[in-house]
Amino acid sequence: MRLQDTLSGKLEEFVPLRPGKVRMYNCGPTVYRRNHIGNYRAYMLGDLLRRTFEYLGYEVQQIMNITDVGHLTEDDVADARGEDKLQKEAQARKVDPWAIAREVEEWFHQDRKTLRMLDADAYPRATDHIAEMIAMIESLIEKGHAYAVDGNVYFAVQSFERYGTLSGNTLAKLEAGASGRVEEREEKRNPNDFALWKHDPKHLMQWDSPWGKGFPGWHIECSAMSRKYLGDTFDIHTGGPDNIFPHHECEIAQSESVTGETFVRYWVHVGWLTIGGDKMAKRAGKLYTVPELVEMGYEGPDIRLYMLKQHYRKPLPFDLELLDEAKRIRKRINNFVFYEMANRPEDFEKDAVKAEIEEARERFQAALSDDLNTSEALAVIHGFMTAVNKLEPSNADAALVVEFVREWDGVFAILDDEPEDDLDTEIQQLIEERNAARASKDFAHADQIRDDLLARGIELLDTAQGTRWKTK
Ligand SMILES: [Zn+2]
Repeated sequence: MRLQDTLSGKLEEFVPLRPGKVRMYNCGPTVYRRNHIGNYRAYMLGDLLRRTFEYLGYEVQQIMNITDVGHLTEDDVADARGEDKLQKEAQARKVDPWAIAREVEEWFHQDRKTLRMLDADAYPRATDHIAEMIAMIESLIEKGHAYAVDGNVYFAVQSFERYGTLSGNTLAKLEAGASGRVEEREEKRNPNDFALWKHDPKHLMQWDSPWGKGFPGWHIECSAMSRKYLGDTFDIHTGGPDNIFPHHECEIAQSESVTGETFVRYWVHVGWLTIGGDKMAKRAGKLYTVPELVEMGYEGPDIRLYMLKQHYRKPLPFDLELLDEAKRIRKRINNFVFYEMANRPEDFEKDAVKAEIEEARERFQAALSDDLNTSEALAVIHGFMTAVNKLEPSNADAALVVEFVREWDGVFAILDDEPEDDLDTEIQQLIEERNAARASKDFAHADQIRDDLLARGIELLDTAQGTRWKTK
């Protein structure tokens, strides 16, 4: 398995810290507002890694955090300014921030289930781990990496030499490009120092700490929670492209300053979801949510396939045509499994079909192992379906073929659920409905039924003995 590591900037052979086990932390949602599909692209990467590693035989421990405090609005600088996103929403809606956090967290779980993301081992909330964050901040102060001033605690960026290695935003670069984005507070030793703990009497969510009442900075949350669940060093940390700087850069500085160990072995980030070439995360007014897309007629697995069709690291244009395309591809694969491979003639297994399955499996595993090349893995299934159809499989072949597609779908998770009704019963009912329509000279309706079935790969044959059907 090779993964593109953001830190080294190279494709790296994946070697887990503990043989056969993958420990992974995915930066999860900030629960102030229903997340949009740009956010879900990042969470989908976590699910894809999880499913891929499990498919390849690893045991995966997956942790995804819930940020329910401390994520400020101007989060593109390390020491973010602005308001706490939750607090701002709570004041605008005149609702308790805790109520908003729980409601949006619930929506997150609904949406990820719609997108068929597997349950992580834990979804730790920031507000449930304040004690761990305070302990980590105390340790940073003790080791000379942080300092407290008037109820605020800052991380001293100059105390961590490797600051900037992940994102390229070294101190020299940040200082040269200082554009007034960083807050020049007198109490800070360096303008790029960022807050670990914030004192703000107006904040609605406050905790006692050795530095007085306050709330944690966003970055320390992920350092503290990942350490609690996965230890000082773990294998994979994922996130969106906007997390590389400052969020993940700051996490490395905090965690490695406390432990003295390598924090994360492989940093994996998705590319942007773009609209008309713009980064979706930064454009207001065009941010579709999962239920909005469902309302527009796209099922969760359609959205899933739309994302997986593109390599995770490439920019993914948000375009309804691409969603329509994903829907068509999914229909084709479902048709293959549920109709083309059903009702096959009784016969023995063919070696040629078995050979196709073996080759497709090899190519599928190779594609996934090549930095999660899902575009190629999808192409494999296309080629496989065409090749199998040409071989005119028997019912015995078809069972093996479907078994392989289901294996493939353990990673893609886009197949329809097994139809509950017997296919034959359903088609017989449609044939009777069509006969009735023809008898009452409603030929438009009769043709519609025939065309709908045809679109599902089922052909009706009118014979002297009545109407029969076959898969195309
Ligand atoms: Zn995070």
